[in-house]
Amino acid sequence: MVSFKLDDELESFRSEVRKMAEGEFAEKAAYWDENEEFPAENRDKLAELGYLGMFIPEEYGGSGAPVIQGTIFLEEISRVCFNTALVCQLYLNGPARAVSLLGTDEQKQRLLPNVAKGKTFIAIAISEPEAGSAVTDLRTTAVQDGDGWILNGSKCFCTGGHVADYLMVFARCAGSKGARGIGAFLVNMKKKGATVGHISKKMGGRGLPEADITLEDYRVGPEDILLVGDPESSKTFSLLMSSFGPERVGNSAMCVGLAQGAFDAAKEYTEIRHQFGRPIKEFQGIQWKMADMATQIHAARLMVYRAATNPAPNGFPDPMDATMAKLYANEMAQRVTNEALQLHGHNGYTREYPMERMVRDARGFALGGGTLEILRNTVAAMIYGHSFNQRR
Ligand SMILES: Cc1cc2nc3c(=O)[nH]c(=O)nc-3n(C[C@H](O)[C@H](O)[C@H](O)COP(=O)(O)OP(=O)(O)OC[C@H]3O[C@@H](n4cnc5c(N)ncnc54)[C@H](O)[C@@H]3O)c2cc1C
Repeated sequence: MVSFKLDDELESFRSEVRKMAEGEFAEKAAYWDENEEFPAENRDKLAELGYLGMFIPEEYGGSGAPVIQGTIFLEEISRVCFNTALVCQLYLNGPARAVSLLGTDEQKQRLLPNVAKGKTFIAIAISEPEAGSAVTDLRTTAVQDGDGWILNGSKCFCTGGHVADYLMVFARCAGSKGARGIGAFLVNMKKKGATVGHISKKMGGRGLPEADITLEDYRVGPEDILLVGDPESSKTFSLLMSSFGPERVGNSAMCVGLAQGAFDAAKEYTEIRHQFGRPIKEFQGIQWKMADMATQIHAARLMVYRAATNPAPNGFPDPMDATMAKLYANEMAQRVTNEALQLHGHNGYTREYPMERMVRDARGFALGGGTLEILRNTVAAMIYGHSFNQRR
C-alpha cells in the first residue's frame, strides 16, 4: 500500500514538538549562533523530556521510536533552532546509534542509558587532514596490544569533539590498505593519549564547532572495541558506513525543517511589509517565489519521509533513497533560505532577523556527512553498479 500521509499519531507528535520548540528554543536561537555556544540547557531539557533516547532501545533506557518519528522531531527542532537540532542529531543518529546497532551488550548497558539522559555525548571522528572525501585513505592506525588496541593518528573536523565524552574513531589495522582493515573504536576523552587541538571558527551551526583530535599511543581497552577491521576485507567498513545511513536521513530532515522555518518567516514578512501602497505578497513575482519555495520543500519532505520509511533488506535506510534525500534536501535548503533572505530585503541581510543565520546554517550539510559531489558519485555508482572513486 502506498501512503503519503502521516497518521494521526505522528501528526500530533509533530504538533507537540513544534509547540515545545517554539516555546522553549525560539528565543535563544540567535544567541547560540552569536556566542558560538553549545546549547547545553536545550540538550538537558530534551533529555529530561525523553527525546534524546528516542532511537535507543527500551532495554537500554530509550523509547525505541521508529526512524520516521525521529525524522519529524529533527525537522521541527531545526525549523526553530538549528544548533539545538545539530546536537540532537548527534545524540539520535550519530555514533550513539552506531553503538546501539553494532556495540556489545555491555557497551550498550554502560553508554546508552547515559546518552538518553544527555549525560554522555559521543562524537564521530572519521576525517583526517589527508582523508576527507577519500575516507578510505585514512591513516590512523590500530595495533593490537594484548586484549586491547593502540591508536595513533590525527583526526579533524570532528563536530563537538571538544565537548565529547567519547569519540567513535575510525582506524585501520596497521598495514591494511583502502577500505580493507578499517574498524571503529570508542575513545574515552578523559583518558591519556587523546588531545583536542584546533577548534574551527565556522560559518554556520556555530553552537557546535568542529575540533581536531590527536591520538598518541591511546590504548583502547577490550571494553571499548566496537568493530575490528579485517585486513583482508572491506566488509567492516561497509557495515560502519551503513550504520550511518540514518544520519543522512536526519541531516535531510534538518534541511527540510530549516527551509520550512525560513519559508514561514518569509510568508509572514511578505504579508506585513508594504511597498507601492500594498503588501508585497500582492505582487505576482513574490507569489511565484513563495510557490516555488513551497513546492521544493514539499518535494524534499516526501523524499525524506520515503527514506525514513523504506529500509533496505539489512534494516538500514535504502542507500539510494537516503543519498538522494540528502542531496536534494540540502540544495533545496540553500535555495529556499537564500530566497527567504531576498524576500526580507535589507532586513534579511542583518542579524536582527534570522534569515542570514539560516543561509549560513544550510551551507554546512553541503559538505558535512558527505559532500554534494560525493553524494552524486554515490548515486552514480548505484546507477552503474560500481564506484568510480578508485584511488589513483
Ligand atoms: C559542518 C561539518 C561537520 C563535519 N563533521 C564531521 C564529523 O563530525 N566527523 C568527521 O569525521 N568529519 C566531519 N566533517 C568533515 C567532512 O566529512 C568533510 O569535510 C568531507 O568529507 C569533505 O572532506 P574535505 O573537507 O577534506 O574536502 P575534500 O575531500 O578535500 O574535497 C574538496 C572538494 O573536492 C570535491 N571532491 C573530492 N573528491 C571528489 C570526487 N571524487 N569527485 C568529485 N568531487 C570531489 C569535494 O566534494 C569538495 O568539493 C564535517 C564537515 C563539515 C563541513
